[in-house]
Amino acid sequence: MTILSPIAGQGARKSADDGPFWTGKPDVAAFSKTQDERLAKATEAIDRMLAAKGKRTVENTLKPYDEALVYLNAASSQAHLIEEVHPDAALRSAAEKASQKAQAFGTELSLNRAVYDALTSLDLKGADEETRYYVEKTLRDFRLAGVDKDEATRKRIKALRDELVLIGQEFSRNIRDDKRTVVANDVAELEGLPADYIARHKPGPDGKITLTIDYPDSLPVFSYAKNENLRKRMYMEYNNRAFPKNMAVLDKLVAKRHELANLLGFKNWADYITADKMVGSAKNASDFIDRIVGASGAKAASEYQTLLKRKQKDAPQAAGVNAWESAYYSELVRKADYDFDSQSVRPYFQYSRVKQGVLDITSKLFGVQFREIKGAPVWHPSVEAYEMLEGGKLVGRFYLDMHPRENKFNHAAEFPVRTGVRGRQIPEAVLVCNFPGGDANDPGLMEHDDVETFFHEFGHLIHELFAGRNQWVGTGGISTEQDFIEAPSQLLEEWTWDAPVLQTFARHYQTNEPIPAALVKQMRRADEFGKALTVRRQMVYAKLSLSIYDREPSQVNTDALIKNLTEQYQPYKFVESTHFQTSFGHLDDYSAIYYTYMWSLVIAKDLFSQFDRANLLSPAAARRYRESILDPGGSRPASKLVESFLHRPFNFKAWQEWLNEGS
Ligand SMILES: [Zn+2]
Repeated sequence: MTILSPIAGQGARKSADDGPFWTGKPDVAAFSKTQDERLAKATEAIDRMLAAKGKRTVENTLKPYDEALVYLNAASSQAHLIEEVHPDAALRSAAEKASQKAQAFGTELSLNRAVYDALTSLDLKGADEETRYYVEKTLRDFRLAGVDKDEATRKRIKALRDELVLIGQEFSRNIRDDKRTVVANDVAELEGLPADYIARHKPGPDGKITLTIDYPDSLPVFSYAKNENLRKRMYMEYNNRAFPKNMAVLDKLVAKRHELANLLGFKNWADYITADKMVGSAKNASDFIDRIVGASGAKAASEYQTLLKRKQKDAPQAAGVNAWESAYYSELVRKADYDFDSQSVRPYFQYSRVKQGVLDITSKLFGVQFREIKGAPVWHPSVEAYEMLEGGKLVGRFYLDMHPRENKFNHAAEFPVRTGVRGRQIPEAVLVCNFPGGDANDPGLMEHDDVETFFHEFGHLIHELFAGRNQWVGTGGISTEQDFIEAPSQLLEEWTWDAPVLQTFARHYQTNEPIPAALVKQMRRADEFGKALTVRRQMVYAKLSLSIYDREPSQVNTDALIKNLTEQYQPYKFVESTHFQTSFGHLDDYSAIYYTYMWSLVIAKDLFSQFDRANLLSPAAARRYRESILDPGGSRPASKLVESFLHRPFNFKAWQEWLNEGS
């Protein structure tokens, strides 16, 4: 923490934000006041920039511009977190309003011709590579935002963007607030589910058991419940979250984005949103999807036949496998053909031990230390805060909000709350997940999938924190191309498949025995099964996301699209009366670019080829990876970062090998 000197000169200037971001645990009034102050300071910095006389330099123009972004970044990121996690409805709604204001400010800034002109006339002679790239990227973003359009067009752009913020918030709110349940008639209906699951779900006075559609309740039903009808009921509720409310909201989102793209000179939103990504265009994104679909076809078909054969043992007349049966029969195939029962690993994955494992492994690999901050200011008593230290110096903080509760964001994500800037402020970020282990009666046994999710989100977190020492806020944190951001997260998942790595933390919660290497080997083998079917499912999502944005809105029927894509890419029949799209939050935040996950996975597999698989705890390649890719954040194009690590451009080879392992 900076000590504020009474004669504060240049050197002792107070940081934009000192200490943990939720210091003082603000109420509605205090939170809103801080938010308004941040926007006022951002305005002041822009005014200072525009008032500068004479030649436009980095000192008199880029510095105040970036300072405005420091305040705007804090305002928008913190509002975004609080609206998704705060237990108090009044604060959530204040945060929604604050978020609207911050985004409106950002839109106005992106359309400010005077600011654009000032940045255009910057004298960059003698500037370093990071600064040059930052300015180049900023000017491109201004043009993509429509700064060079006439006054009337810019007005319409501003109105549309403001409207889109409201529509996006409505879409997320409907997902967050839809509290669907499935009622099991008696304990017998839970047959097949793990004992701790059944113990956690006590029948009510009428003998019935209420299950929610949140992950810890719903996912085990899909995999383990013997009762097909219970699985089907769960499937129907799970795939109707936010239906019907979000049907119209989604149509509105699509129509407004299309109009905006047209105003900005693009044929459709998909062309617009891919223009500044690694992929470069909607056509390339579509070709990429086709390539992945082609590569996974034969394997997906053979996996489906295996599922069907297994089902025919139970139902000899069965001609097909239904969508709500796929997880269940996959589990049975893994048991019978791969001698692996995914429940057998759960006792080794107790939440508290997994958490310690993630911390210890990343600490060892990347050369940093983590220390819990006792009594830190947090928004809910279950949230834990940590400091990240390097060489004894405080270099970041993060928060873990890891278990479900009402009105909380119900997926898993990393939320930045402050981007780090060298010499000015240290980075802070939050993981928001929904893992078991939140209540006292629950030992908190995780599925291997959950462990993967934890490592995945932590991969985002270290990217955010390690890229916290650039000279500009605009190049710091995860400010790289959006179709690269899922590479560091998916890369870190690899560490959850390695026996020596797992044995450092995965110990039986009752006997303390480390997870047997043979069991990990079986788990890896079993994981081969269903891989291509999962890739195909991902491509349904990717193509849906691209297709709703790559044509005239009048031609978009989201129900028809998802039905056609499901039947085109997947062997299962589409289940009528389900509307997965209404709870597919990425149709708002990722819009047309859900392909990003697979694109990043192709890169992640290639990056992983540089690591020594016989010794994944060795820090050698990890440090090089951190220096070439994580630390630089958005200070260079992602393709260059990847090349500097691989010593060549990335290719599909490692991904292909991964897809076809074991076949
Ligand atoms: Zn991710």
